[in-house]
Amino acid sequence: MHLDPFELHRPTSLRDTLRLAGDLAGRFDYLAGGTDLLPNYKMHINLRPHLIALEGIPELRGRSLERLGAMERLADLERDPALRGAYPGLADAIDEVATPLVRASGTVGGNLLVETRCFFFNQSYFWRASLGFCLKADGDRCHVVPQKERCYATFSGDLAPALLALDAEVEVAGPAGLRRVPLGALYDAEGDGIRRTRLAPGELVVAVHLPASARGLRGRYKKLRVRPSYDFPELGVAVAGRWESAGPVERLRVVVGGAESYPRRFDDLTDALVGASLTDARARALGEEIAKRVRPVHNTFLLPDYRRRMISVYVRRALAEAREGRAA
Ligand SMILES: Cc1cc2nc3c(=O)[nH]c(=O)nc-3n(C[C@H](O)[C@H](O)[C@H](O)COP(=O)(O)OP(=O)(O)OC[C@H]3O[C@@H](n4cnc5c(N)ncnc54)[C@H](O)[C@@H]3O)c2cc1C
Ligand code: SF4
Repeated sequence: MHLDPFELHRPTSLRDTLRLAGDLAGRFDYLAGGTDLLPNYKMHINLRPHLIALEGIPELRGRSLERLGAMERLADLERDPALRGAYPGLADAIDEVATPLVRASGTVGGNLLVETRCFFFNQSYFWRASLGFCLKADGDRCHVVPQKERCYATFSGDLAPALLALDAEVEVAGPAGLRRVPLGALYDAEGDGIRRTRLAPGELVVAVHLPASARGLRGRYKKLRVRPSYDFPELGVAVAGRWESAGPVERLRVVVGGAESYPRRFDDLTDALVGASLTDARARALGEEIAKRVRPVHNTFLLPDYRRRMISVYVRRALAEAREGRAA
C-alpha cells in the first residue's frame, strides 16, 4: 500500500481555508491528524488530489469545560484533569480511542467525522477489486444488504456517543458563515449512508460546545471490541445523567454507537424514567427496549445478533457503574 501524490495546502486562518475550499470544490478533503484519512488513502479509497491541512488555523484550537476546539488532540484531552472530572463518560470514551500513538495525533473533529466502517470497504484496492467494488467507493452495489441501494457501514467513532449524551453542540463554518447545531443534527440519519454527515460542501467543524447542564453528571462509556488495546468499537454505549442512589432520575441520556450508520439517542425511553428511581429492573428493561430498536448488520467482525444482545448488557453495566460513583 502506498500514498498517491496529492497537493497539500496549509492555510493559517479560517477565512483563507474557506476561500481555498471554494476554489477546490469537490476536489479536496480536510486533513486533521490524518489517522483515519491517510490509511484510507493508502487503500485508494475515495482519493482527492488536494488536502487542506487544518493544523495552522487558530480558530480550531483551545479547550475549556465549555468549548473543545476541533483541532484539539485526544492525548491532550486525556491528560486534562478538569475535563476528566467534569465529564467522566467523555473521559472513558477518549481513553478507549485506538492507541496512545493514534491519540497523540487524532483530533476531536476528526473523531466526530471518522469514516464509517465495513468489512467490505476497509480493504486494499486489490481486495475490493477482486470482489467487485461497492456503493461507498468505486462501485454500484452493496455486499451486505444487496437488495437495497443504501450503505450500511457502521459509525465507529467513540467520542460522539459520549458527547451526545451531554447534549453537546457543534460549531460549523462554511461559505454561509458560522452556525451552531446539536451534535445529533451533524449526522445524516435519513441519508443514503454514503454521505455520512449533513455538512454542506466546504463546511468544516470549528468546535464542540458543552452546556453548563452537562457538568458534573454521572457518566460512563462502555465499549465492545475484539482487541481492547486497539480496535474500533463493535458497540459503544454512553450514559449521562443526574440521580441520587435511591432517588428519582432528574435527567438521563443513553446513546448507542458502533452499531448502525450513525450514533443514536433514545430520549423517549429515558425521559419516561424521569421522576422514577433507577432500579436494576428499570435499567434492565431500558437496555432491552433499546436493543429491540437497534439493527446492526453483518459488516464488522462480531455477529450482529451478539452485538445487539450486548446492548442491553452494556446499558445495564454503564448505568450501574455510573451509579457506583462516577459522578464528578
Ligand atoms: C489503528 C487505528 C485504530 C483506531 N481505532 C479507533 C477507535 O477505537 N475509535 C475511534 O473513534 N477511532 C479510531 N481510529 C480512527 C481515528 O484514528 C480516530 O477516530 C481519530 O480521532 C481521527 O482523528 P484525525 O484527526 O486523525 O482525523 P483525520 O483522519 O484527519 O480525519 C478524519 C475525517 O474527518 C475529516 N475532518 C477532520 N477534521 C475535520 C474538521 N474539523 N471539519 C471537517 N472535517 C474534518 C477529514 O476530512 C476526514 O474525512 C483508529 C485509527 C487507527 C489507525
Ligand atoms: S455496507 Fe455495503 S455499500 Fe456500505 S461499505 Fe459495506 S458493502 Fe459497501
